[in-house]
Amino acid sequence: MKYDLPNDLKNYEKTHKRAGILISVITLAVSLGILAALIVLTLDKGAAHTALLSTFYIIVVGAILIWSKIPKRFTDKTFCGKIKDVSVYSRRISSDPAKPAPQNPQYWHMLHTVTLEVRESNGHIVNHVAMSVRQSSVDAVAHKYKEGDEVFHLYGTDVTVMLPGGADSLVLCPVCGESNKTEDDVCRKCGHTLIKSIDMICKK
Ligand SMILES: [Zn+2]
Repeated sequence: MKYDLPNDLKNYEKTHKRAGILISVITLAVSLGILAALIVLTLDKGAAHTALLSTFYIIVVGAILIWSKIPKRFTDKTFCGKIKDVSVYSRRISSDPAKPAPQNPQYWHMLHTVTLEVRESNGHIVNHVAMSVRQSSVDAVAHKYKEGDEVFHLYGTDVTVMLPGGADSLVLCPVCGESNKTEDDVCRKCGHTLIKSIDMICKK
């Protein structure tokens, strides 16, 4: 869905899309170069190694893709709409890679990932990972977003902000996440325009 964003947010989106494509192209070129060098170097080691090496190459390519955040750059998009569903996926992770063994429980904590299913005003459904937080209780995370709430996410940012309802006195910045008063028009921290309602950015 197309949105009529204020100029500063439009520029933020455009700059990040351009930078994202550039970084992705460079990362892919460099990693393919390294991969080609690895293949050439290991080519004459015999057919017995082929299956093992293929697996290794697939892991290398996968790791590079995840590390470069390329999938995120291409799947991210600006959206605005009502939350249809909130799902929380929790898993245990080690805070110290050197001590991953379960017999060291003090080095383990929970990582909660919150995914939102959002319905845009044209009926289109967007699934988006809104946040990943460590250690806080799962209740606190799950209650941050509620079904029926209106949310806005700008391409390239790490935040998905809830739009203020009638009684709310605070509005969150769509770029840095800072809390601002609802009567303010721009963020006091980064100066970007505050989005206060879906009507502000929906094309009529
Ligand atoms: Zn801000």
